[in-house]
Order: sequence, then C-alpha cells, then structure tokens
Amino acid sequence: MQSLQSCNHYKKKMNATPDTRAYLNEYGIRPSVQRIAVMNYLLHHRTHPTAEEIYQALAPEMPTLSRTTVYNTLELLVARGAVIHLTIDPRFSRYDGDISLHGHFLCDHCGTLYDVPLKTLPEALYPKEHRVNSAQLYYRGTCAHCSQENKQ
Ligand SMILES: [Zn+2]
Ligand SMILES: [Zn+2]
Repeated sequence: MQSLQSCNHYKKKMNATPDTRAYLNEYGIRPSVQRIAVMNYLLHHRTHPTAEEIYQALAPEMPTLSRTTVYNTLELLVARGAVIHLTIDPRFSRYDGDISLHGHFLCDHCGTLYDVPLKTLPEALYPKEHRVNSAQLYYRGTCAHCSQENKQ
C-alpha cells in the first residue's frame, strides 16, 4: 500500500468505480464487473502485481471470480493498451496500471519492482529503420532498502 502514497496521478481517482468504468470505455473495453475489479485494482495498487496476486486480492469479495477470468481479463487489458505487461521478472509476468512512460527497477534480493521516472526516451535509443510501438527500460540490482540492510 505504500505505493499509493507516492502516486499523485491516481490519488484523485481513489474509490472511484465510475472512473474505472470510463477508463475501460476509453480503451473500447466493455466494463463487466470482473474487468472493472481487475482494472480498479491495478489503478490503485502500484506494486506491479502478478495475476495470482490480483486473483488472491479480489477473490474474497468476488467468490465467482476464477483465475482464468483474471488471466483473460489481463490479456485483454494489455492487448487494448490499458495495462502494461512487464516481463522484467523472470519468475512471473507482472502488470502495471500506469501506462505513462517510465522505467522499472527490479531488486534481485527482495523482488520489489520500483518505478523509475523517465520523461522521454533519448532519440539515440530508437532504432532508425523501424517504427516503435512500445519501449520498456529495465534495470536490475539491489534496491536502496536492501543495500541498507546489508550494511548493518
Ligand atoms: Zn530490495
Ligand atoms: Zn511501473
């Protein structure tokens, strides 16, 4: 939940189911109850959760929800560009409800996936002969928190 604090962009959208519905409409996605729940979770939890984490969080309040529905919903949200599929973590696919341009840092010790602010991608990094539809910038290493713990 600590990620909510650092998230000014979506702070004003807290507890706003109608906004999530509008968000899905923007991407041409019919807002079913399950789709709203998954999208809402991603908009309000900036921890880059796995499909399983999303399922575990929603299942107690949605007894009819299945893992398959969560996976299918995520696939649809990614295909329509409403959610980013992150492949930095070799163990799991992780998902990001923040589709603005930013990089990611994966801590090899604690597994936390941090956002890295990124205003623009330097033009030098773009291939000249190809058209870029999406770009992801990944870092891996030891996060500040784990570095501190190792010193003690
Ligand atoms: Zn760490
Ligand atoms: Zn992110």
